[in-house]
Amino acid sequence: MIVLKFGGTSVGSVENFRKVADIVNQVREDRIVVLSAMSGVTNTLVEIAHHLKTGNKERAIFLIESLDRKYREVARDLLPDAAMQEKAYHFLETHNALLNRIASEDFTESSEKEILAQGELVSTQLFHYYLESINVSSELLSALDFMRIDRNGEPDADRIRQNLRKVLQSDSGNRTYITQGYICRNPLNEIDNLRRGGSDYSASLIGAAADARQIQIWTDIDGMHNNDPRYVENTFSVGELSFDEAAELAYFGAKILHPQSIIPAKENNIPVLLKNTFRPDSPGTLIHQGAEVRSIRAVAAKDNITAIKIKSYRMLMAYGFLKNVFEVFEDHKTAIDMITTSEVAVSLTIDDTTKLAQIKKGLKGFGTIEVDSDLSIICIAGDISQNKKGVTASIFNSLKDIPIRMISYGGSNYNLSFLVKTSDKLAVLNLLNEGLFKDLAQRDLAVV
Ligand code: ADP
Ligand code: ASP
Ligand code: MG
Repeated sequence: MIVLKFGGTSVGSVENFRKVADIVNQVREDRIVVLSAMSGVTNTLVEIAHHLKTGNKERAIFLIESLDRKYREVARDLLPDAAMQEKAYHFLETHNALLNRIASEDFTESSEKEILAQGELVSTQLFHYYLESINVSSELLSALDFMRIDRNGEPDADRIRQNLRKVLQSDSGNRTYITQGYICRNPLNEIDNLRRGGSDYSASLIGAAADARQIQIWTDIDGMHNNDPRYVENTFSVGELSFDEAAELAYFGAKILHPQSIIPAKENNIPVLLKNTFRPDSPGTLIHQGAEVRSIRAVAAKDNITAIKIKSYRMLMAYGFLKNVFEVFEDHKTAIDMITTSEVAVSLTIDDTTKLAQIKKGLKGFGTIEVDSDLSIICIAGDISQNKKGVTASIFNSLKDIPIRMISYGGSNYNLSFLVKTSDKLAVLNLLNEGLFKDLAQRDLAVV
């Protein structure tokens, strides 16, 4: 069994749906195809929900109708015969009626989530019809029947496995299943999701639940690049990564992967192959346990970081201080990304500021609190173990003119991260590209 996940751009047009089908049809083993919504659709659904929430129903209906027109055009151009088109139009009518019904009712958080789930439900149905129209038999599985999150919004791996087992048939070596990325049900049995970009996470969870041989993430770029191609020129695709390196890069901002998506694959030792739908022959990036160790693999940046500094002389020689500080964050279910300590202060960063006011209140008794926002974590992934000479010097030499707010090094052997102002991020990413990937390539440390 392999899992193939295609992102929004890969299913963003009629032509691209066809490309996806070509790729899927070349697989010679059972496969689960996980699809995102067509590109732009989830953003439109977010907008629809926003307008309904803020009482602008007219605008919401306008967007619902424009989505409907777009889908109808896709159905018309994708599906060759009239009977098939009729089937698709009928499905789209029901879908449109559902959105209109939600729009006419009182708006709740669960109606918002139901709206957000519609993009994947439509793209998978259209793809299913398309495969049928080219005589490829496939089964459409509703992710709502097997994907589950728990009370904390985290996937419930055991239930997903049990549920998925029930819907998968015995191996035939040539079965095609199609299902939705991103969407799931929560413990109240309501429709929910794995947060934006969550289809990668779905693919990895499904791969783990189905004991897949490989998880393939097909997107619009030829694998993980050494730096963020949105901000830096002359980036290049990295041939392989260890699970740990990939997990760090995903968590710290490499948009090609949802932040948590590597974890289920790593836990189950399932290789993940990142591939380009538009250049299927390019090798892409293989994420696996046996990746050869290299000094510096890649750089990523995570924005919207807030730093909190707690300064207190009570920390001097005291034990239990950090535990008490961490408890405040635990109480407010807020994850900490980076930490540095000195004798009399501790600085830490968070990216979820929804509970910031409560956290500040909770920390009040501990000392002076300083909060800084608009920061970015820059993560350098690779084998940056402590006994390697020169690597940290190269990193900081490249950044000699940039003020650095925090540094985290030695927590693991494959990550060095530091905190800068977001306004310096572009400069930092470009300086590192110049400094690290040119220098280190010459010293045979970074070329892949
Ligand atoms: P999909 O819709 O297929 O899930 P995404 O837009 O979520 O695709 O992710 C692919 C995009 O990630 C690329 O087009 C690229 O702009 C961006 N990206 C950011 N950092 C990296 C990186 N280090 N390597 C590759 N792509 C990256
Ligand atoms: N469609 C969802 C989003 O745009 C999930 C995904 O594409 O991964 O966030
Ligand atoms: Mg994505």
